[in-house]
Amino acid sequence: MDLIETIKQMGVVGAGGAGFPTHVKLGNQVEIVIANGTECEPLLFNDKYILNQHGNDVLQGLKIVMQVTGAKKGIIALKKKQAQIVERVKSLLADQENISLALLDDFYPAGDEQILVYIVTGRVIDQGQLPMTVGCLVSNVETLRNIHFAMMGKPVTRRTITCIGEVRDPSVVIARIGTSMEDVISECGGVLVENPVVIVGGPMMGYIEKDLNSPITKTMTGLIVLPEDHFLVRKKSMPMSWVVRQSKAACCQCTYCTELCPRYLLGHELYPHKIMRNINLDINIPPEVIENAFLCSECGLCEVFACPMELSPRMVNHAIKINLLEMNYRPQLILKKKQSRVNDLINRKIPVSRIKERLHIRQYDRKEIKTGLETNPKQVEILLKQHTGDTSIPVVREGDLVEEGSLIGEIPSGKLGARVHASIAGRVTLVNNERVIIKR
Ligand code: SF4
Ligand code: SF4
Repeated sequence: MDLIETIKQMGVVGAGGAGFPTHVKLGNQVEIVIANGTECEPLLFNDKYILNQHGNDVLQGLKIVMQVTGAKKGIIALKKKQAQIVERVKSLLADQENISLALLDDFYPAGDEQILVYIVTGRVIDQGQLPMTVGCLVSNVETLRNIHFAMMGKPVTRRTITCIGEVRDPSVVIARIGTSMEDVISECGGVLVENPVVIVGGPMMGYIEKDLNSPITKTMTGLIVLPEDHFLVRKKSMPMSWVVRQSKAACCQCTYCTELCPRYLLGHELYPHKIMRNINLDINIPPEVIENAFLCSECGLCEVFACPMELSPRMVNHAIKINLLEMNYRPQLILKKKQSRVNDLINRKIPVSRIKERLHIRQYDRKEIKTGLETNPKQVEILLKQHTGDTSIPVVREGDLVEEGSLIGEIPSGKLGARVHASIAGRVTLVNNERVIIKR
């Protein structure tokens, strides 16, 4: 079986973002593969753990991707402040001729692949385009590790996740896919506050999850447990109607949101202050302005750092995208425009330390975090869509016995998707179009 087919069979998807199926991403030839270990969101420790303790797995995965894509060069990117990890990775690369290290400053969003490609290679990706258009491919270090496992016949059944905040033992946990969030939090000693609220993902881009029975998926990076009155909880819980009302009342058109927007600084035609102006004036928004919301990565810098009035251009952009997509609108204008010049990205890098202050999360931060915990639940609820593309089709029935690693969801014929596998051995107790539940 060829390498890409093996990766497809093992259900590998991008572990750092939306879960794009890796076998599809690897279908293009590139010159440079970048292993993304920069982990720019505060409070997350997954990439650091993986590079520190399983760097060789990442290296092996990187070599596979270079082989498949014909890349002549590999780069492992991480933050230079991680001195111990830098030394470990350096020693791994000592006899690697075509794989090097890129050491980045501790700024946000260093891990955004468009920013990362520019910082590491000097190549600028046109707006609305992918890294392959400039001969690059970016892969998260956990994805590369999963590719290495795939070569050994091991499908994706576990997820590295940081559980931190108001928990007794903040830890990096290896969670079986489908473990409930509550089980992961219990594994970390349980919560320390009444009425905790959980943010799934990082504090900048994560979302609030109210149902702690929700299962862990292949793309979840963090569970951040906070008190219900925490700044971040209030910020992320604001209803859209309130965001718009506040923006109408308070946006002074200072343009800071644009001046610090990483995508604008990369030369893309994203001007959040113009979108805010049009929203505020209640006028018919010109398509070339509104469409540019699709260029927004939702990194959150504008709302957390740039705006002096604590407004949220990010939420406005998000709402515009959702509304337009629900109307089956597909952006055209942004793809037609030519790349403009790179603005002052290098001099306007926002240090993560400043972000932590603004997020009021300093008390949860730590230099190191406990590792080595694994979940071993009695039951898992495995979603059939944990990736970009179509929902997988269940291939098991209620009552079936499965082994860990058994196929339970298949990619619909001819569609974009990813296979799904059992993360524990046991009996299938529920199957529907969205999920499979397995009990030991
Ligand atoms: S969230 Fe704000 S800062 Fe980030 S890309 Fe979007 S508009 Fe720019
Ligand atoms: S930074 Fe805030 S106040 Fe200034 S233009 Fe942007 S949204 Fe308006």
